[in-house]
Amino acid sequence: MNVADSERAATNLHNAGYAISDSTQSADVIIFNTCSVRARAAEKVFARIRDVRRFRNGRKPIIGVMGCVAQLEGENLLEDSTSIDFAIGTGALERIPSIVKEVLEGQGKALDLGERVESEASGVSASFRHSPYVAFVPIIEGCNKFCTYCIVPYSRGREKSRVAAEIVEEVSRLRGEGFREIHLIGQNVNSYRPRTDSGLESIEGATQFSKLLRVVAATGIERIKFTTSFPRDLHPDIVSAIDENENLCNWVHLPMQSGSNRVLRAMRRGYKVEDYIKRVEAIKSAKRRIALTSDIIVGFPGETVKEFDETINLVKYCRYDSLYIFKYSERPGTPAASLEDNISEQEKTARFLELEKVQKGIQRSVLEEYVGGEVRVLVEGKSAKTPLDMRGHSTCHKVVNFPGDISLAGQEVIVRITEAKVNSLYGGLVKGL
Ligand code: SF4
Repeated sequence: MNVADSERAATNLHNAGYAISDSTQSADVIIFNTCSVRARAAEKVFARIRDVRRFRNGRKPIIGVMGCVAQLEGENLLEDSTSIDFAIGTGALERIPSIVKEVLEGQGKALDLGERVESEASGVSASFRHSPYVAFVPIIEGCNKFCTYCIVPYSRGREKSRVAAEIVEEVSRLRGEGFREIHLIGQNVNSYRPRTDSGLESIEGATQFSKLLRVVAATGIERIKFTTSFPRDLHPDIVSAIDENENLCNWVHLPMQSGSNRVLRAMRRGYKVEDYIKRVEAIKSAKRRIALTSDIIVGFPGETVKEFDETINLVKYCRYDSLYIFKYSERPGTPAASLEDNISEQEKTARFLELEKVQKGIQRSVLEEYVGGEVRVLVEGKSAKTPLDMRGHSTCHKVVNFPGDISLAGQEVIVRITEAKVNSLYGGLVKGL
């Protein structure tokens, strides 16, 4: 979501006549997009700002902060720092140009933590997308789940779904501009529930999201991925929609967070291990093999060794293609922050390493299963390691490298896998599509 927000902010500023610089040394205005609020998030912003200023020769750039830290800490940031000139909340991206103008005109420090106004909604220009082939399309913003450890419902507000017709129009336009893959994004995409379902009334499907998947697939864009999915809202009809439409990619990111029912309750995740397993079984019973990835927090307050072992066992059962493991850290302002953070840093690290070791073993065997088979890869550019190889992502969201030249960039190709690396696959080009 943060990359998508940066793309939108750059587009809005460009449309208002500002030139976007890729150098903090020459820019007149520098805006920090801040993410996940942890205990020291504001201090980190101050440190980065000090770094940027250190490179200047006495000329002070205008400095702004946007994103979650700005939304939650905006007033304090402006009060506490002489360096920060403006703070813009998560709903005010469309108003960035007028805020920057105010500050440039010398009207003093500026703050906008207001909500997004529907009529101001803007798109993203192709030149500010992070890739010329892959585009993010936000379909829902905010969150109503209020997991006890998470700040998102406070920093991003309640869930707000875009109307389907607008999403379909954007995907069709991106297809026309040459984008090959789109990612439908949101904190919980499968909780998608527009106030008006214009465009979805006649579409088959058990949920608004599975209807949306079908109608987006019908645009004919080559590849559609979506992230993140909330376990409770992972209806089996989403798997049916993937089965029916080849352009719905075979990858689901389904954060588990813990394998213990007591910890899940303390996290207020709204599902039990048994519910989660049912969703995983539905995903694993799909016609195509759907890659499954997840997030886990270790060392949540009160997590016992036995509860952590339950997480290990569930990870072994799910056999994730990849896993993001986080050590619990307190987010000020969340309900979990009032719990005693009674797992020592040393113990959290030990649990992190143990789980990582288990996952590495699983990942190695999952990746080895691809050796000898073929995957469809969207070629995104040169490999980071050697200019002789190209790099892209498979439909199952694996990084795939293979010998090739830059003329393949932007094409979808078939690659036969010859080797499983630690976090990626390696192979040879079979043919273009
Ligand atoms: S579902 Fe929970 S963890 Fe995810 S954004 Fe919402 S509150 Fe945060």
